[in-house]
Amino acid sequence: MSSSPPTNLKTTASAPSATADTPKVSNFLRQIIESDLEKGTYASRRWAGSPGDAAHHAAGQPDTAKIRTRFPPEPNGYLHIGHAKSICINFGLARDYGGVCHLRFDDTNPEKEDVEYVSSIRDAIKWLGFDWNGSANAEPYQASDYFGFMYRAAQYLIEAGHAYVDEQNVEQMRLNRGDFGKPGVNSPFRTRTPAENLTKFRDMRDGKFEDGSMVLRAKIDMASPNINMRDPAIYRIRRATHHNTGDTWCIYPMYTYAHPIEDALEQITHSICTLEFEDQRPFYDWLMERLIEGGLLGAPAPRQYEFSRLNITYVITSKRKLAQLVYDQKVNGWDDPRMPTIVGLRRRGYTPTSLHLLADRTGTSKAGGWTDYSTLEGCLRDDLETKAHRGMAVLNPVKLIMTNWDDVFGAGHLEPCTQPALPHPPHGAPSAATPEGVEAPPQRHFTIGKEVWIDREDFEEIPPKGYKRLFPGNKVRLKGGYVIECTGCIKDINGVITDVLATVVPDTKSGTPGSETVKVKAAITWVGVANGVNAEVRMYDRLFLDAQPDAGGKDFIESLNPSSLKVITAIVEPSLANALPDQKFQFERHGYFVADRVDHVQGTRPVFNLAVGLKDSWAPHR
Ligand code: ATP
Ligand code: MG
Repeated sequence: MSSSPPTNLKTTASAPSATADTPKVSNFLRQIIESDLEKGTYASRRWAGSPGDAAHHAAGQPDTAKIRTRFPPEPNGYLHIGHAKSICINFGLARDYGGVCHLRFDDTNPEKEDVEYVSSIRDAIKWLGFDWNGSANAEPYQASDYFGFMYRAAQYLIEAGHAYVDEQNVEQMRLNRGDFGKPGVNSPFRTRTPAENLTKFRDMRDGKFEDGSMVLRAKIDMASPNINMRDPAIYRIRRATHHNTGDTWCIYPMYTYAHPIEDALEQITHSICTLEFEDQRPFYDWLMERLIEGGLLGAPAPRQYEFSRLNITYVITSKRKLAQLVYDQKVNGWDDPRMPTIVGLRRRGYTPTSLHLLADRTGTSKAGGWTDYSTLEGCLRDDLETKAHRGMAVLNPVKLIMTNWDDVFGAGHLEPCTQPALPHPPHGAPSAATPEGVEAPPQRHFTIGKEVWIDREDFEEIPPKGYKRLFPGNKVRLKGGYVIECTGCIKDINGVITDVLATVVPDTKSGTPGSETVKVKAAITWVGVANGVNAEVRMYDRLFLDAQPDAGGKDFIESLNPSSLKVITAIVEPSLANALPDQKFQFERHGYFVADRVDHVQGTRPVFNLAVGLKDSWAPHR
């Protein structure tokens, strides 16, 4: 029997194929890109092989990438499921339209970054099946590498009369900004000459002023109906050591200024972000126009497009709030299987394909709203259904003794049993009759003996109406084994059932001729006492009881589900105990489980996480 292939079906290695095989559903971003490709909007762009200004790219070659998108995380936390969607969109569009997607660490804010997060972000993107910057071996871009250009661009804006140093304090600036109904008031510093501004700005850079004492502002329109166009701050003084540039700078660009420049230096064509940034787009375009006018950047400029962010019920997607769960030890770290981080989802048993499916099924549009948690679970179920090996596990064990076993088979006899690891051949795969040259379908091997473990719920001394499983006088099949007839049970002095008693019906072994002549109404799962292995099983549930735990400023800590984790000792069949870490299974009748990537030890210390139940039947158990 050793000719059967190893039972470690890799469910994680086939990342983007789920989307590659399924027809693409069009959406507004695809339409925009298709129209740009048709019109040749970006056809004349050049690419110098690395990010840079107008002159740099002008000296390069015509860009072979038809489009350039980017994924620009701030390295201030672990990526979550919302980022997974953004990754699938940006890298997926580049893949589908002959383009390149850049990974760029948006590290312009010196206070918040941490190198710890950088490697986890790289891992997450690779795990989802993508390469960045046009090659698997490329280095990601870093926004902080562009500080020099950003400073130069700011000097240009000042010289051209498009920026000024404002010395109003924070409170004055806030008051003078006005609000939705009220236009802003010009700063008294707004009329300074470019020469004065340039000197001030250089002094800012040279550390001559206190943190927060002044800012550089774009000079646009204090009466604009869009508050973001009322002379937004573009540079601030902040003495902070930056993880990349150290103490070179004591002034740092604001995000709204830095981001469009990062896109432009990288020759991004379609800069895709979430809807919160819609009001920033006029400034994005304004800045691009000014810097193209000045010859610092080449045309055509990148364009920003917004889609609605992914919100999933019972899930929090804010790095800051997820960090709070970790630091307050409400969960066991960023990769706790209850966390919606990519590392958490992975440890929970989610596959790259399941997250690609989620990105597809939730669509890309400007319409907001919430995706039901069951949609996420459905994506995993649909991926694992045909891929995850089956196995039997008893989660709440009670012993069943076949009292006539020794008479029928001889004392101590263990009968070998074989069951397919995958019940239905996956679509397109060869069916049961295995033609020559095609690998045989994987099999599981285990034994049955006088004593087996069954789930407590599969026996009732007095059966409720309609109950078809074990009760005195009833026959059931031990799945993959024999038909047995229940004869009663043994209880301890407290009335707790310690053993269920049955007799085995000879000549009914599954798969042998005539085994079906004894009809039964139910088959139950079981594990042989002789070869069952104890396993730690972590029964996870949703982390929150409230569908929108942080909506409307609610304290999400209050709706933490107190029973989001129950650890049990189950008994599993040998093929499960021999799982590789991260291997996914369907525990028959119970759900999908994954061998824990961290704690599971193959063969000797099996540890499984509940990934998702077999069907959607969730109700909060309070
Ligand atoms: P958070 O609020 O969790 O910190 P963020 O948007 O600040 O998220 P960034 O690291 O700045 O995180 O985001 C990188 C990219 O991921 C951005 O383009 C952002 O729009 C996108 N993104 C973040 N959250 C979601 C989400 N829930 N749905 C879709 N895209 C998202
Ligand atoms: Mg952010």
